[in-house]
Amino acid sequence: NIGEFRPVIRQLDDSAINRIAAGEVVERPASAVKELVENAIDAGATRITVEVADGGKTLIRVSDDGCGITAEDLPLALARHATSKIDGSDLLNIHTFGFRGEALPSLGAVGRLTLTSRVPGETAAAIRVAGGRMDPVRPAALRAGTVAELRDLFYATPARLKFLRSDRSEMQAITDVVKRLAMAEPAIAFSLRDVSGEGEGREIFRADAETGDLFDALSGRLSTILGREFTENAIRIDASREGLRLFGLAALPTYSRGAAVAQFLFVNTRPVKDKMLHGALRAAYADVLARDRHPAAALFIDCDPELVDVNVHPAKSEVRFRDPGLARGLIVSALRHALAEGGHRASSTVAA
Ligand code: ADP
Ligand code: MG
Repeated sequence: NIGEFRPVIRQLDDSAINRIAAGEVVERPASAVKELVENAIDAGATRITVEVADGGKTLIRVSDDGCGITAEDLPLALARHATSKIDGSDLLNIHTFGFRGEALPSLGAVGRLTLTSRVPGETAAAIRVAGGRMDPVRPAALRAGTVAELRDLFYATPARLKFLRSDRSEMQAITDVVKRLAMAEPAIAFSLRDVSGEGEGREIFRADAETGDLFDALSGRLSTILGREFTENAIRIDASREGLRLFGLAALPTYSRGAAVAQFLFVNTRPVKDKMLHGALRAAYADVLARDRHPAAALFIDCDPELVDVNVHPAKSEVRFRDPGLARGLIVSALRHALAEGGHRASSTVAA
């Protein structure tokens, strides 16, 4: 009987709000790894270590040598919508991966998160939050930087826990995330270890810091991640148009793949999966590749943050260019031009 149904509007408490937000930000262990590694990159780290147990379900530990967090700021780092990266007045001018201040409170709502950190000249401190409940800051031991340790992801949201795949496939997703971020940051040393069970653990991926000019560093890093065969069969792309710069390596048509598994696109170092950009890549190769073949490329677009909106989705893999035609045109013309000159392999540089 509808007459007896009395809906009551209630304000949700923070812990419920954080668990709901976490559903958007943290889909699986790989999304937690992405958030923590991005924080380390934003902190100016030169070395980032990721340790994972049981596909990230029981443990994800990300250590960096970045700027650290003061003891005073530790509770704020875990507070919702608290960020050091923007001041809210200029959402169009974002230079960091983070800006929403949502990742850490979300992780702390659905798992057990301990942050240990030290800024130069101060003593180290740690804070722990589990299922949304925060303990007071306590003194800790750490040489420098930050260690974010996330245990028992989704223990507080059992429904989500049930949807996780095997340890093996979660580990694969984590490896993909780390490699993708590492592609765009050749100057940072990365290491990913599986520390399941007893003992030292097993190195899954390692990339030493690359030095040298942009293309030397990038080629070195891409060799490590995609293999020498890719870099030896790729052309250097470097073209600019109206404030957009496109650079990277695009493979010769002969190195194409049966599936679109080797297409890596970045906007302002942010890995993106964007229909328009992937479409442009395909269009650029249309004349030189059979329909069932897919080009392989790692391409980076750099531009003033005002020319691109990264605020489209919490997971932030989509972007929206102010002038999508410009980005598309740049990719198509620069790649066609470079492919036409083709034979020069990994040595030719072209201008659009
Ligand atoms: P966002 O990255 O969007 O700012 P987060 O919840 O990921 O939000 O982090 C909140 C804040 O905690 C950051 O703005 C930053 O000041 C601090 N922080 C997080 N991780 C690190 C880190 N590894 N090193 C230094 N500061 C960090
Ligand atoms: Mg962040």
